[in-house]
Amino acid sequence: MNKVALITGATRGIGRQIAITLAQEGYDIALNYRIENEDLLDTQKEIEKYNVKCLAVQGDVSVFEDCDKMVKQVIEKLERIDVLVNNAGITKDMLLLRMKEQDFKEVIDVNLIGTFNMTKCVVSYMMKARQGRIINLSSVVGISGNAGQSNYSASKAGIIGFTKSLAKELASRNILVNAIAPGFIQTDMTKVLSDEVKDKILETIPLRKYGTPEDVANVVKFLASNESSYITGQVINVDGGMLI
Ligand code: NAP
Repeated sequence: MNKVALITGATRGIGRQIAITLAQEGYDIALNYRIENEDLLDTQKEIEKYNVKCLAVQGDVSVFEDCDKMVKQVIEKLERIDVLVNNAGITKDMLLLRMKEQDFKEVIDVNLIGTFNMTKCVVSYMMKARQGRIINLSSVVGISGNAGQSNYSASKAGIIGFTKSLAKELASRNILVNAIAPGFIQTDMTKVLSDEVKDKILETIPLRKYGTPEDVANVVKFLASNESSYITGQVINVDGGMLI
């Protein structure tokens, strides 16, 4: 029986690549999506090329009932969850003076509460299995902060505290919890930035290039594998040296 990986926000960007990379490794994949569209169908097709099962589960990670329903569907259809990747995330960048309470809350709700919701729903199954891997997508700005991203940075810093606390709570059950802090990765999320902003960011990256979804997915692959079985509570930067 294949291991099962559940990835949130998996129809495009980094999540899509994580799903494809884990499918290549032989995991059955549970893909979370919000709205049925071409991206979903395309990702499913790509995953099925690797002769693994691909189950699409619809839901908004910021809604606890959706997460509960999705996890139950995965258990019913694929029977287990070995790896949970909390990838779904949004930005709503603006300086604090212009930021509305709703802009702050929405980002916290999806990025941080969404990570809590999914983890809470999955963890009882992992505890019963006495094994599991939880991999949370944080960000370099959760470590360094960034002007115009107080909401996003707070959510990503929260994910780091959540990861470390859970790593301590769940270690005795052989459930390993780690976070990845990407720098600038080329996806829709960063496409919206102006060339001027992108050029400025590039100057801060010692490797002098932007990251790709594959760069992040390869670290997820490692953190999900037996090769990382003595690593928990860590934050691994995938940032071309941005935070050295
Ligand atoms: P992206 O291209 O914007 O994709 C985000 C994904 O999250 C989409 O599939 C989106 O689904 C899904 N999503 C958003 N809100 C959701 C919700 N409430 N419920 C379920 N799914 C939801 O972003 P990305 O660049 O791949 O980023 C992936 C993760 O890496 C995020 O957590 C992000 O914060 C983090 N990260 C990215 C970078 C970067 O440079 N790109 C850097 C650091 C950290 P829809 O298609 O339905 O919108």
